[in-house]
Amino acid sequence: MPTSRNAVVTGGSRGIGRAIVERLCRDGAHVVFNYTTGEAAAAEVVRAVRADGGTVHPVRCDLAEPDGPRRLMESAEETLGGLDILVNNAALCPSPSAIADTDPEVFDEVLAVNTRAVFMTIRYAALRMRDGGRIVNISSANTVRPGPGIAAYAASKGAVEQLTAIAARELGARGITVNSVSPGATDTEMLRGANPPEALEAVVGMTPLGRLGEPADVADVVAFLAGHDARWVTGQNVRATGGLA
Ligand code: NAP
Repeated sequence: MPTSRNAVVTGGSRGIGRAIVERLCRDGAHVVFNYTTGEAAAAEVVRAVRADGGTVHPVRCDLAEPDGPRRLMESAEETLGGLDILVNNAALCPSPSAIADTDPEVFDEVLAVNTRAVFMTIRYAALRMRDGGRIVNISSANTVRPGPGIAAYAASKGAVEQLTAIAARELGARGITVNSVSPGATDTEMLRGANPPEALEAVVGMTPLGRLGEPADVADVVAFLAGHDARWVTGQNVRATGGLA
């Protein structure tokens, strides 16, 4: 594996994605990340990484658009000159609603960003990534025993885990590993936007390690799977949940 690797991280402007961008850059990777509306947040990530001596390039790209994933990957390859690491992190989590009350357009949008874009970027990587590459897809702890009200989100993440398992089998001959990471409740805008404080307190109460996850707790697992030390790990889903089953 080359010492300086080129990485694409989707949704790197805040939350877990930002922590992944920062960690991979600290590990010496050259990183392209995308965002949609968070221009100021993206600029802040760039400032922080560059202040630390890292190499990072932001790209504005909406992965819900049919051609968004391909444009992001092409632009990253052009900027970086080759691809070694792909982290599919960007996702939407709509407000909880029962299937009967969920607008089909919301379902389509969630699947477009959380699943179709993951398929498209993996497809691009299957065609263009250098041998020995790494793909890490962010799933969610709630694919196991999903509760009511999160059908679109949980379905989209269940599909991500299936794509992970299948891509691992298809790309293994080239030394490319494909794994997923399932975060538990992690303190980001997505989590705070979808849950009232009392729900978060209840989650903390059920978590053996007794707190919410921090974005860096997840980013460190991603960095392991993206690195040389995880060369013999593929097709796996790692639950980074503080022990929450
Ligand atoms: P977040 O704070 O909501 O950040 C989402 C990121 O994705 C932002 O950078 C956002 O950019 C980008 N994004 C959103 N829609 C996009 C689109 N249509 N096209 C391209 N980029 C888009 O989310 P997070 O909590 O860090 O979650 C990161 C990952 O962890 C997701 O896959 C999520 O499902 C998973 N996860 C999170 C938790 C948790 O508790 N936080 C738990 C389990 C799994 P803009 O701001 O520019 O839109």
